[in-house]
Amino acid sequence: MKVLKFGGTSVGSSTNIKSVSSIILRERAKITVLSAMSGTTDALVRIVNESQANRTITNEIKFIKDKYYKCIKSLIIDNQEKAEKAVDDVINLLKKTSENYDNKSSEGIILSQGELLTTAIFTLYLKECGKKAELINILDMMRLNKNGIVDEEYLKNSITKHIEKFSDDTIFVTQGFICKNADGIITNLGRGGSDYSAALIGAGISASQVQIWTDIDGMHNNDPRYVEGTKPISHLSFDQAAELAYFGAKILHPATALPCKHAGIPVYLKNTMEPDAVGTVISVEDNFLNTYQAVAAKDNITLIRINSTRMLMAYGFLRKVFEIFEEYKTPIDMITTSEVAVSLTIDNDKNLKAIVKKLEELGTIEIEKTNSIVCVVGVFDHEHCGIISNLMAGLKDVPVKMISYGASDRSIAILISSDNKIQSLKALNNHLF
Ligand code: ASP
Ligand code: MG
Repeated sequence: MKVLKFGGTSVGSSTNIKSVSSIILRERAKITVLSAMSGTTDALVRIVNESQANRTITNEIKFIKDKYYKCIKSLIIDNQEKAEKAVDDVINLLKKTSENYDNKSSEGIILSQGELLTTAIFTLYLKECGKKAELINILDMMRLNKNGIVDEEYLKNSITKHIEKFSDDTIFVTQGFICKNADGIITNLGRGGSDYSAALIGAGISASQVQIWTDIDGMHNNDPRYVEGTKPISHLSFDQAAELAYFGAKILHPATALPCKHAGIPVYLKNTMEPDAVGTVISVEDNFLNTYQAVAAKDNITLIRINSTRMLMAYGFLRKVFEIFEEYKTPIDMITTSEVAVSLTIDNDKNLKAIVKKLEELGTIEIEKTNSIVCVVGVFDHEHCGIISNLMAGLKDVPVKMISYGASDRSIAILISSDNKIQSLKALNNHLF
């Protein structure tokens, strides 16, 4: 049983949707998870913002209507009316929800419409092609618990029970991204969350593989937006993929690796536009790993440095620091310590002012904004010589602000000013690969 997920560009036009259909038939997908057609979620986010500000949503409605009508025209033949009615129903719901905007539930309802509509149209198309296609409404199965974490047990039970009701040749289609919260209100897994949905669904049905189809031929060994001649990485371990996704590789949602790692299900990253390209496989470690495998960078990092003589030979100091970040629900990414100072980084500086005020009770605080974390993944066996010296030789012309080595033997993180990011990515590419 395979779970295949297709991103917004992969379902972005009738031509691409036809490619998706031939891929899922060729791969014998059990469940196909779709994002909304490209541009839809951005438009829906604008609808939320405009509604909150009591402004008109005419442009967004027109964008969605035109996009889906155009797609239906060249995709659906016999059921055009039915498909157009599905679009009209969504448009009416969007208008109504926007007019009667309610802070508790409207955002979730609005943002869910892209995935709901795209999957409805795709299922209709498969049926027209004579396939036994069945649309699953994932809102009945994907829900969060009180802590905002996906209830995997509930998903597993409901989805396995559901698919058992149908014959083996049924092709299931469902939505990525969307879910309900513990109170039954529609919400989502965050932008780009469809990858994570597919991984959760794959783990839920004990799939043999999860395939994430996008518009690039796998995860590259460096950022193709800034560096020329990057190459797809053929193999990554789950931990490496999670680090790369978290620290900047845009192709995969960072949480995707986790459910599949636990269930031991390999994740393939494939290109809808080039279905025969090898892509990347993320799996449990074998002996495929190289010393240096890939580099990624994440921007908008704030460095916080705490200087305190109270740290000297004291215990419990870090706990006090961490408690402040916990109070403001702000995750810490990197951390380094000396005997009289702690440096750490955050990427969410929404509560920075309040955090700094509290931290000042512990010592002198310095803040530096607009930094980037460069993450290098590979195999950094702590018994081996030369790993750091080699890496740093590549960065010899870049001022390094922090370095984190020794936590995971699969990744090293380096903090630099964002002004030096492109230079660093290029230098590491030349030096390491
Ligand atoms: N449609 C959602 C987004 O654009 C989810 C996804 O594509 O993964 O963020
Ligand atoms: Mg995506």
